[in-house]
Amino acid sequence: MKKKRIVITGGAGFLGSHLCDKFISEGMEVVCIDNLLTGNIENISHLFGNENFQFIKHDVTNFIFVPGKVDYILHFASPASPIDYLHLPIQTLKVGSLGTHKALGLAKEKGATFLLASTSEVYGDPEVHPQSEDYWGNVNPIGPRGVYDEAKRFAEALTMAYHRYHGVDTRIVRIFNTYGPRMRLNDGRALPAFVSQALNNQDVTVFGDGSQTRSFCYVSDQINGIYKLLMSDIHEPVNIGNPSEITIKEFAEEVIRLTNSNSKIVYTPLPVDDPKVRQPDISKAKKLLGWEPKISREEGLKMTIYYFQNSLHKK
Ligand code: UDP
Repeated sequence: MKKKRIVITGGAGFLGSHLCDKFISEGMEVVCIDNLLTGNIENISHLFGNENFQFIKHDVTNFIFVPGKVDYILHFASPASPIDYLHLPIQTLKVGSLGTHKALGLAKEKGATFLLASTSEVYGDPEVHPQSEDYWGNVNPIGPRGVYDEAKRFAEALTMAYHRYHGVDTRIVRIFNTYGPRMRLNDGRALPAFVSQALNNQDVTVFGDGSQTRSFCYVSDQINGIYKLLMSDIHEPVNIGNPSEITIKEFAEEVIRLTNSNSKIVYTPLPVDDPKVRQPDISKAKKLLGWEPKISREEGLKMTIYYFQNSLHKK
């Protein structure tokens, strides 16, 4: 049987590069597309020379040309950390809207199955807790996070429209906070910020009073969830994340403890529209995909700290 061929936009990013690895290990041919705006070629450098791997440097807001057959398309291209989309607001809106349009167009043309990387940000600052897929969210369209939240909400709407109107076989994963090796140390997110600050014995910057909560999923669990969703026939959105919820203050303390650091916590202003709580309701993924996370936060944090220690040494 001929090998399956998969296109991964944003394939040089944090999740994209782990997906490239996953599908190479499943014996597929992987076409990785990235414009390297927030992606990093080092995330995929180990795959160069692999006959099943191809890299195309391209901005997917423009027409995407991929010769040959394509069985699957994963659309993961987008700035994804709050400081990235604050610095790149127009690119974030464009890749969520125009980029999703181009990727869906490619899926329609090739008869490929399409999977959209959506986000817990579609729930905004949620008034329902934990968040289940039938909650419509509480998003400020004109706030600083709106560029990401609304782009992803539009991307979901466009994906459902291509499914309903053009019959494209689509999936939507709503990804909750995910961490692990290949996150950028300076992407401004809580985990890389806390770990690099703690490893350097610098003050750990907790925004606000740290009472806001998040629920952190280790990357291998996230990748397995996405894989199972792709192989399913579920067209409606599915949450993938780890329901183990923690306040940001407790999370900072946990990072300080696990890094044996002398760092102290300092409190700085809370960013505008920062969600106060976030926890995925994963009953749907459990029931329909037979998926649930396996890696505890302590275990995942240890592996991630080890990775960051090594990358700090290389600097
Ligand atoms: N945060 C923090 N210190 C930092 C970075 C982030 O206290 O140096 C907080 C941030 O305000 C949010 C939480 O940690 O409440 C998670 O932020 P992150 O940027 O990781 O992602 P988000 O879940 O907000 O998309």
